[in-house]
Formats: sequence, structure tokens, C-alpha cells
Amino acid sequence: MKHTSQIAARVKQAAHEAGFELAGIAPVREFAELNHFPRWIEAGHAGEMKYLEARDDAGQLKRSSLRSTAPWARSVMVCAINYNTAHPYSTQVADSERGWISRYAWSREDYHEAVMRRLRAVESWLRNEVGGESAALQTRCYVDTGPLVERVYAKYAGVGWIGKNTCILNQKLGSWLFLGVILTSLELEPDLPAPDRCGSCTRCIDACPTAAFIAPYQLDSNKCIAYLTIEKRGAIPEEMREGMGRQVFGCDICQDVCPWNRKAPMTNAEEFQAREELVKPALEWLAEMSAEEFREKFRGSPIRRAKRSGLRRNAAIAMGNSGNRKFLPVLEKLAADEDAIVAESAAWAAKKLA
Ligand code: SF4
Ligand code: SF4
Repeated sequence: MKHTSQIAARVKQAAHEAGFELAGIAPVREFAELNHFPRWIEAGHAGEMKYLEARDDAGQLKRSSLRSTAPWARSVMVCAINYNTAHPYSTQVADSERGWISRYAWSREDYHEAVMRRLRAVESWLRNEVGGESAALQTRCYVDTGPLVERVYAKYAGVGWIGKNTCILNQKLGSWLFLGVILTSLELEPDLPAPDRCGSCTRCIDACPTAAFIAPYQLDSNKCIAYLTIEKRGAIPEEMREGMGRQVFGCDICQDVCPWNRKAPMTNAEEFQAREELVKPALEWLAEMSAEEFREKFRGSPIRRAKRSGLRRNAAIAMGNSGNRKFLPVLEKLAADEDAIVAESAAWAAKKLA
């Protein structure tokens, strides 16, 4: 078989040709960061995200080790693609009539599909190149859904360091990155881990409006607006609502303030260009969106995950936080909505504005 360092170099080249800006290889190890994961789950910091708590037959958390879920895996290839577009950051926009949708969700195509398509091209290259020499070659591609903590492998693949805001940061590209991974049974020459370049900076921690960081590098999802607006079902705890500000889907604040994103380049990928109506969306439009329009508008969009009820709930709360009394009539109408969660959120918001 060809030398593993040769294959590693060429498969990374194949990743660049498939459109990934960054690609690296991590060995499969019991990294120290993975030991922390069970404690984080144990402490309840994953909130209602039960999929993070999936366990193998031995009762071990699947995401804490590849030993039981992919015992054949010897290397993890991590690929990253930039999704930044030429639009302002949430911290640069002040408009009381508009909400904020996280940057990653503006794209024309669901990023899972756009990233997976590119991963498959890299996987095919690998299979064509070494499949014949290694009959038992195994590979598996994942975008978000793999039994692993992707950012830990991204660090050890040299793609970027894990910032104090818990995102992967790259010195040249910043943190607007989608990650995709390919597990392989090939023992490929690994890259060096990316060194931590956060230094003494604490901007992300200081800027978080809901104090969601338990400590640098550690997030309590229950307090994070991204979790509250996307994953949390039912009513949002009242004490968290004010801190949500005008975020209606996700939150970019701890990335917007990061100095490494100051000069983040723009993506060339067609699929990640923004749907203009999702950049600073009108709150009234979201809160009053019909089921049909929701289906139509968000077909193939990660925004579907919040469901229509969640998105309207979030828009009502954002109206309450806007300080804009123009929203009072619409909130009073929504307070009688057939969706009890929307109605209760709107009543809270109307009271806050009044
Ligand atoms: S995404 Fe928003 S709420 Fe969550 S940690 Fe970052 S700044 Fe805080
Ligand atoms: S804002 Fe500062 S501390 Fe936070 S991730 Fe960026 S560099 Fe690191």
C-alpha cells in the first residue's frame, strides 16, 4: 500500500478540490477533552438534547469514544467549509422591528446536504484510490449526526482550536465554519493539533447576554440562546426571556465579538449565499407566519428544526424585548392564538411592552 503520509496529503488535496477550505486528519484516541463530555452530560448541561446522551450496550456515552460505535476506525478526517457572507454581524445591527437568525441558517440549501455532497466526493476519491489495495477499507461520513464530538477531532486534525466560546476557530478563516467528518479504517498520518490562540481574551464570555458560560470553554446549553430558540420545546423559562433580546433562531453574539472573526473571508459556495429575507427578518412576519408559508419558506432549511410554533414563540418574545410599542396590537392578537405556547409568550411580551 502507498505510504500513509502520501495518501493523507492526497486525500486532503481531494477535500480542497471538493470545495473544503480546510482538511486535516486526527488519530482515534481517548482525548482529554472527551473525558469531560460525560461530566458535562451528567451535570445536565445538555438540556433536552437527548440525542447527545445516546449510549452503547455497555452504557457508555456513544459520543465519548469511538471504541464501541466504530471500533474499526483508525483516523478521522475533518473537513471545514466557510459559510460567511458579506452581511453585517448581529452586534452591528440595531433595528427594533427586526429579529436575528443565526448566520449559518441563512443559506439557500440545508448545509447538511451541501457538506455531505462534498464529503461523499472525498470518500469516493479515497475508495477509488486505496479501496482496491485494502479490501476491508471502511469509511463513514457525518455532518452533525456522528457518534463523536466533532470539534475535538477538528482540533486534533489541526483544523482549528476550540475557543473559549466552544466553537472551532481557525487563524485565517475565523469560526464561520461547517464541519464534516469521515471516519476511516485507514491509519493515515495525522496532523498536529491546532494551538489555542484565545490568550487572555474573554470577549465572548463578557458579551454573552444570558451568562451561558459556566467557565471558559464550557457552556450550559440550558442558558444558551441557540439552545433556547432551536432545541427547547414548550415555554421558555421566564427568567431567560429578557436575555434573548431579538434572537429568534440561534445566536451569533459570542462569534460576532471574536477578534478572529473581524476579517473573516467570505464564502464562494453558491449554496451558502444568504436568502435575503432571513437576514434581519421582520418580527411581525415571523410571528404571524401561516403553517403553509412556514412549510414553503423553510423547505430545506435548518430553521425547520425550531418548528413553526417555536419560531413564532421566539418572535413574540423578541417583540417584547424590542421596546417598540408598535407591536402591542399584534401581540394582543397573538395572546389569543390557538397555540398555547405562542399565546403565553405573546401575553408576556405585551405586558413587558405595556
Ligand atoms: S450563542 Fe449566544 S447565548 Fe449562546 S453562549 Fe454564545 S453568546 Fe451566549
Ligand atoms: S472572543 Fe476571545 S476568548 Fe472568545 S473565542 Fe474569540 S479569541 Fe477566544
